Amino acid sequence: MFISLPEEVTYILYKLHEHGFAGYIVGGCVRDSLLNTEPDDWDITTDARPDQVKQLFAKTIDTGLKHGTVTVVINGRQYEVTTFRHLGSVTNADSLTLLKEDLSRRDFTINAMAYSRQTGLVDYFNGVNDLKKGVINAVGKPEQRFREDALRMIRAIRLACQLNFIIGNETFAAITGNHQLLRSVSRERIRDELGKIVLTDQPGRGILMLRSTSLLGYILPELADSSDFEHTLAILEAAPKKLTVRLAALLYKLGQPWSEKENEKRNLSKPASERQNSVRKALNRLKFPKQTVDTVYRLVREQLDELAFPDKVSIKKFITRVGPENLQSFFELQAAVIKASQPSYDFSALDVLQEQVCNILKEKQPLTVKDLAVNGYDLMEIGIQPGEQMGQVLDRLLEKVLAEPEMNTKENLLKMVMAEQGIDNV
Ligand code: ATP
Ligand code: MG
Repeated sequence: MFISLPEEVTYILYKLHEHGFAGYIVGGCVRDSLLNTEPDDWDITTDARPDQVKQLFAKTIDTGLKHGTVTVVINGRQYEVTTFRHLGSVTNADSLTLLKEDLSRRDFTINAMAYSRQTGLVDYFNGVNDLKKGVINAVGKPEQRFREDALRMIRAIRLACQLNFIIGNETFAAITGNHQLLRSVSRERIRDELGKIVLTDQPGRGILMLRSTSLLGYILPELADSSDFEHTLAILEAAPKKLTVRLAALLYKLGQPWSEKENEKRNLSKPASERQNSVRKALNRLKFPKQTVDTVYRLVREQLDELAFPDKVSIKKFITRVGPENLQSFFELQAAVIKASQPSYDFSALDVLQEQVCNILKEKQPLTVKDLAVNGYDLMEIGIQPGEQMGQVLDRLLEKVLAEPEMNTKENLLKMVMAEQGIDNV
């Protein structure tokens, strides 16, 4: 067994060995190397303590000293070097015993292998076998492992989708039987795994597995009992691999009006703003960054059948609402919706809109508040208060300028505000 290592990793292992410490690459990078895919990062495990690791290398960062992790920086690249995770009682054991203890605390057999050139592959839990079979199995008793850390249940699904693997029967049963444990996991950790699932080649399969294991109820309860789940999965599968577009695809139906039939059935008809807010709420709850939430919200807010524009100003208003930087994503999402909805695709309405938008963009006329010839400071100088008043004034100026681009000069706009506010000329 030979794994080809980046130069920097070889150097780190050499340094550790030279000073009498054990050093192995471990976890995801061993797995990916055996699968012949390029690892995202190379993690190293050692019996050296963090302070000892820091002494060996010129540039290090204290990443997680509590967890025994030091980041070593070489050639501008970062490598995490972590002291063997083990129980306090086994500190005097030899290094292979310590390594085994470390590996036994990892989540899945395919993630619980280590390698060094001297020792070769260290595989105490049949990771190679499971890699060959394409199976995700917990290390040890699945149920116990999920009790220690329930995030592993989502990680199993994420890895299955990333690698096109299946989840072993016992491990799968332990997920289904213990879904409620997910309640104890922080939303940030859940968010990161959800983001990775939607960005795999099998996002629909991932969300379906989350639902069939009942995990989805703790992640996106809004989707867990939605009636047109199949359609959501189809949109998701048709969307390109971009986080905001995939999230918008996932939540698209949530932001859309109910069909008339469904309204009767449910005897409710939520106003549009409320439906769209539920998209925002869901993403905020999962602690997605503000920017991500805003973009997804802007994407799901629009409905293609309402976007037949009679005039230039309404096209400009549409561009302003979506945001010029999100137009590409908007068209990608709508194309996915069309692909998922129709047995024979009809892109004509979307094509028309795209052409109209292109033409407007070519004219390079002002489209957003940022394009106005005045900014907040200019307005403060004539006495407009920052905050709500400022926002309203800027919105009114934009409204004016969208209709009459030639009005977009500093002099004109200031004059307009002063007249409106009854401010005397200074
Ligand atoms: P990726 O390719 O996304 O980086 P990965 O398997 O490397 O996948 P990381 O989150 O980078 O995942 O974790 C690195 C390694 O740490 C894993 O391969 C696994 O051995 C171990 N690990 C990570 N999270 C857990 C966990 N929750 N429980 C046990 N071991 C874990
Ligand atoms: Mg990794």
